[in-house]
Amino acid sequence: MYYGNTKNNILNYSPEELEAVVAELGDKKFRAAQIFVWLAKGVNSFDDMKNVPASLRAALDERFRIDLPEAVRRQESKDGTVKCLFEFADGTQIESVFMKYEYGNSICISSQSGCRMGCTFCASTMDGLDRSLTGGEMLAQVLAMRNLTGEDIGHVVVMGMGEPFDNYDELSRFIRLIHEKKGYGLGLRNITVSTCGLIPKIREFAVDFPQVNLAVSLHAPNQKLRERTMPVAKKYDYDDLMQACREYTELTGRRITFEYAVIDGVNDSAACAKELASRLKGWLSHVNLIPLNEVRGREYRTANEKSVAAFKKILESSGVAVTVRRTLGSDIDAACGQLRRKK
Ligand code: SAH
Repeated sequence: MYYGNTKNNILNYSPEELEAVVAELGDKKFRAAQIFVWLAKGVNSFDDMKNVPASLRAALDERFRIDLPEAVRRQESKDGTVKCLFEFADGTQIESVFMKYEYGNSICISSQSGCRMGCTFCASTMDGLDRSLTGGEMLAQVLAMRNLTGEDIGHVVVMGMGEPFDNYDELSRFIRLIHEKKGYGLGLRNITVSTCGLIPKIREFAVDFPQVNLAVSLHAPNQKLRERTMPVAKKYDYDDLMQACREYTELTGRRITFEYAVIDGVNDSAACAKELASRLKGWLSHVNLIPLNEVRGREYRTANEKSVAAFKKILESSGVAVTVRRTLGSDIDAACGQLRRKK
């Protein structure tokens, strides 16, 4: 019987796996679909599953938990952004952020508690990896946030704490679970996964989930500079990464997003912009410039508005599609990983 790496959390189960559970408990197959529907509604007790017989509810309750995380801290911004420090039953803490956009509501979820990628500007990685989350725990963030805000959530970005491709199997489980028509039914095109560039997984992802959006954290126009802020660059060379990204766009026909956190005096020069432009010219890509969120305990400062605007202009003049990320929730601890550390 499947359990995931956190025992007994029924949110990890696919409809087929639930069928096996129900069969083992001696009940009819169709009960599995009923249970799956209730779980996707965000109920936190088996007793809420009104059309499921009391005997089956009791049997499930003996064996399983519905591990919806509890919001142990919560910050709300004037712009509607809600950031939560969520805690699962075993005490594992992660962050999720609810955001309002013109195109609808979105949630940024975590794929791991902590991270072992070691990017030098990021708060999530400062204490290393605590543990990876299961697919059900990724889904649970969406359900718990919807319960908390009372709002529909139509877009999910896996850009919170952790490196999703360092937890590929459970990320895949999550995508299948949330896409499941009987359950949450989220369209694959409404999901975006962000990676620091684990090349073998980029290739797998292109084959497994060609409809899901991919964002790659670049943060530098060349190998030398990338190595300075992203240890992962030492393992995966810049040119190889670009090659994998190119193959991704060819295979999927989808535009790739490159994230570029603009850091004062590190990667914000006109020369950097020109080099990046020459790399990306003619690509099916899009650059998202992210004014750096300053992190307590990290020496980096955010690039000033002027240099961000100049950077953007240089990319644009080479025909590279570029946007500057709207800073939502700037009046709260917007940078991921900061709430967990603020004890
Ligand atoms: N591990 C994934 C998801 C990480 S968070 C990845 O690396 O893509 C999503 C984005 O936020 C990444 O591009 C990450 O590099 C960036 N990021 C991390 N810390 C940041 C900070 N302090 N300011 C701005 N962006 C940051």
